[in-house]
Amino acid sequence: MLPIVRVYLSGPMGAGKSTVAQALAEQLGTRALDLDAQVEKLAGRSIPEIFAERGESAFRGLEKEALMDLPSEVGVVSLGGGTVVDDETRQALLRDGILITLTADPAVLASRVGKGEGRPLLGDDPRGNLGRILRARAAAYAEAHAVLDTGSLEPQEIAAEIVGIRNLAPIVVPLGLRTYRVEVGRGTRHRIGIRASEHADGDAIVVFDGGADRPWPAEAIRDLTLAGKPPIEVKLPGDEAHKNVASVEQVWDTALDAGVDRRAIIVGIGGGVIGDLTAFAASTLLRGVALGQVPTTLLAMVDSSVGGKTGFNRPRGKNLVGTFYQPKFVLCDVETLSTLPSEERIAGLAEVVKSAWLDGERSVSMLESDAEALMAGDPEASIRAIRMSITLKSRIVHEDEHESGRRMLLNLGHTVGHGLEAASEYRGIRHGEGVALGMLAAMRVAAQMGRGRPEETARLTRLLERLGLPTDLDRRLNSRVLGFIGSDKKRRGDKIHFVIPRLPGQTEVELLDLDEVKRALVGS
Ligand code: NAD
Repeated sequence: MLPIVRVYLSGPMGAGKSTVAQALAEQLGTRALDLDAQVEKLAGRSIPEIFAERGESAFRGLEKEALMDLPSEVGVVSLGGGTVVDDETRQALLRDGILITLTADPAVLASRVGKGEGRPLLGDDPRGNLGRILRARAAAYAEAHAVLDTGSLEPQEIAAEIVGIRNLAPIVVPLGLRTYRVEVGRGTRHRIGIRASEHADGDAIVVFDGGADRPWPAEAIRDLTLAGKPPIEVKLPGDEAHKNVASVEQVWDTALDAGVDRRAIIVGIGGGVIGDLTAFAASTLLRGVALGQVPTTLLAMVDSSVGGKTGFNRPRGKNLVGTFYQPKFVLCDVETLSTLPSEERIAGLAEVVKSAWLDGERSVSMLESDAEALMAGDPEASIRAIRMSITLKSRIVHEDEHESGRRMLLNLGHTVGHGLEAASEYRGIRHGEGVALGMLAAMRVAAQMGRGRPEETARLTRLLERLGLPTDLDRRLNSRVLGFIGSDKKRRGDKIHFVIPRLPGQTEVELLDLDEVKRALVGS
């Protein structure tokens, strides 16, 4: 039997959590539980008594305790209004289940809770206090798989909607009011019309590349048109050589010539090149319009479309001008990978291996079991790998959006990978191939520093080989490559932030002497 995907219902008092929980439990054929009731049972006191005698922080502690010890047959939990205010609890709920915020206008909430008896936070002015509570908790409530307004819908209808969200199980990138969801699966691309309409009232602009080799842009244009948003089209060359300001200008000017305003949304449909250019254009057009991403390469799905880094290349190097700007939605549809040349798909698997190594043993073992299926492009194995990678990335981006600390971990394999790419002038080697070799190089540096174990290097080498990725580091390392190492953004004077892998899940960023890294690489 599959494990239960538990649904947690959050939101202010009066939002209808308990009523919807019952309706949802009936639809799912499971049991609902009220966390407040569970806390009262645990404490042997009513909630007002706990607040009065021991204060709010003791109450939150009891909530956490109750959450950790839920009966296994419970499939729906109605949370307390303030449960998700605690970041650690909220991230755990997002990871472990489906977290839904139910909310409504303060006037509606106030009419439902009445005078607020037994509700210690409401006092004599329920409506005013509910408005204040909603404002204070807005960022926490936004970090959910969905935020649903219960003002005009029946509990049965809301429950049905939640069942749909539970089946989709989007991955949440939790960034307060800028939270967004990544949908991964088969056919997700067809939601472009719904998502664009949800997030923008104005014109849609689609940016894409490619021709007869892939139907995805034409389908997106049709889906947007059916949704009442016939898009403005911008077709770009879309290769690395055209990841430049001229391409960005083409997006800006086509949109401006069409007379768009700040309610517009720009959606990129393509690989990382199109995604980065589109996102940069969206972040700057009219000082920022909404952005959607429909990545169609494996690399763009697992890496570039999520996390908000945008940019383009300059003659002096890659991605030297850019912004941080998060999308409103990301639709990863594995069906779009069916037209991707297999070498491109396999190159994307390097970032998947990187994510697994950062994540831990379970993810590495999963890739080892799925290796042949992944290499062959099996959709289900691909969905598992994409979900794992995006889940890891969303967690890291939540902790460090602007790469001042933990996010640097995502550069595992990139320092030497970048050197290999730059030395070949970005033509002889794909980014993912560089990352695969770069991870092996990072293992070598770790070993030279007395950190890594040879068994781990052998394990990583085997996995990369089984996935069809290059492992012939020594054949490719030369003085030209060494010269390019450290010439990118990660350098700080003579030092470099270097990601040192050890066992899966045990990776560290250290500021190392650049020459020391180079010496370790050539084993001297
Ligand atoms: P890409 O965008 O160059 O795409 C590779 C090739 O595949 C292109 O020729 C493209 O036209 C084609 N293609 C795309 N989708 C296709 C499909 N479904 N069917 C057939 N052909 C298809 O390469 P990429 O590997 O997706 O992305 C690399 C870029 O991503 C680099 O510029 C890199 O800097 C950037 N990147 C950005 C981030 C970030 O966080 N923003 C992270 C990693 C990489």
